Amino acid sequence: MTTLAPPATIAFIGLGMMGRPMANRLAEAGFKLRVFDLSQKAVSDFVGAHPSAVATASAKAAAQGAAALITMLPDGKIVRQAVLEGRDAAVEGLEAGALVMDMSSSNPVDTQKLARDLASRGVALLDAPVSGGVKRAIDGSLSIMVGGAAADLERVQPVFGAMGKTITLCGPAGAGHALKALNNYLSAAGLVAMCEALVVGEAFGLDPGTMVDVFNSSTGKSNATEVKGRQFVVSRTFAAGFTAGLMVKDLRTASDVASHLKLHVPNLKQAVAYWADANGRLGASADHTEIFRYAEMLADEET
Ligand code: NAD
Repeated sequence: MTTLAPPATIAFIGLGMMGRPMANRLAEAGFKLRVFDLSQKAVSDFVGAHPSAVATASAKAAAQGAAALITMLPDGKIVRQAVLEGRDAAVEGLEAGALVMDMSSSNPVDTQKLARDLASRGVALLDAPVSGGVKRAIDGSLSIMVGGAAADLERVQPVFGAMGKTITLCGPAGAGHALKALNNYLSAAGLVAMCEALVVGEAFGLDPGTMVDVFNSSTGKSNATEVKGRQFVVSRTFAAGFTAGLMVKDLRTASDVASHLKLHVPNLKQAVAYWADANGRLGASADHTEIFRYAEMLADEET
């Protein structure tokens, strides 16, 4: 099996908040890209910035002539449509022996099925969701959690190496997606805890910036306090680049995994309900850091 190194051709589907900077990194590393997104503007903007990239009009067209294909789409159902089931699905354009990397945060149980269905068409799948947000997508320091065969991961190390700093083989197909959903449960829980602490502290007369600084030098420190506290919450810019809707999806995924395994995990269940209600009240496009505004609303409503 040949290693996928520049200037190999890669199809990239989904040029959104994360996909675009990740594809940027691949183009800058010397990979040839064939790109597709439902948004024509996303495609033309990308090709405008990278004249060597080829704009295509479907997932199938993107896949033609590519040694591997990356999806960075909202969820696993959309990935399945784009890769396997849609009218112009990528699998119709891929050559046998090609490799698909689903870097979206998809449902791991669906991923296990997708891996089996693609294998029957001679195509291997790695689930390779990422953590680190837009900032780390831009600087190529994402954490990449991989599910699938070690030999396939070995083959695409240069691809992941262009986008990420920590690349972890978590287990067989679906393992990366399972770990990603559980990671985001921790991330969501830490963010809500910080927001509630800030709401209470402010009402007590504490300065929110001082609170975040103290958390960061104390045991309350978390990704929320370090990366989101002052930057997006205290500043009220709410511009982390990850929507509350995607967070709800990730929490539901984690909860679905628990249900699939017949495990009772009450705090996780409560987190799903909390974020789903927040998402309804904040609006579908709200940044996930706006959960602070939701915490403020609840604090005023409930005694
Ligand atoms: P996004 O909504 O900004 O981007 C998704 C892109 O997919 C859009 O450009 C959209 O037009 C395109 N798209 C949707 N359906 C399509 C289809 N059928 N065919 C082709 N293109 C299609 O989302 P994002 O924030 O970039 O997130 C992408 C994935 O990465 C999600 O699974 C998300 O949970 C995950 N993720 C996001 C972040 C973040 O900070 N934003 C961090 C880690 C993981």
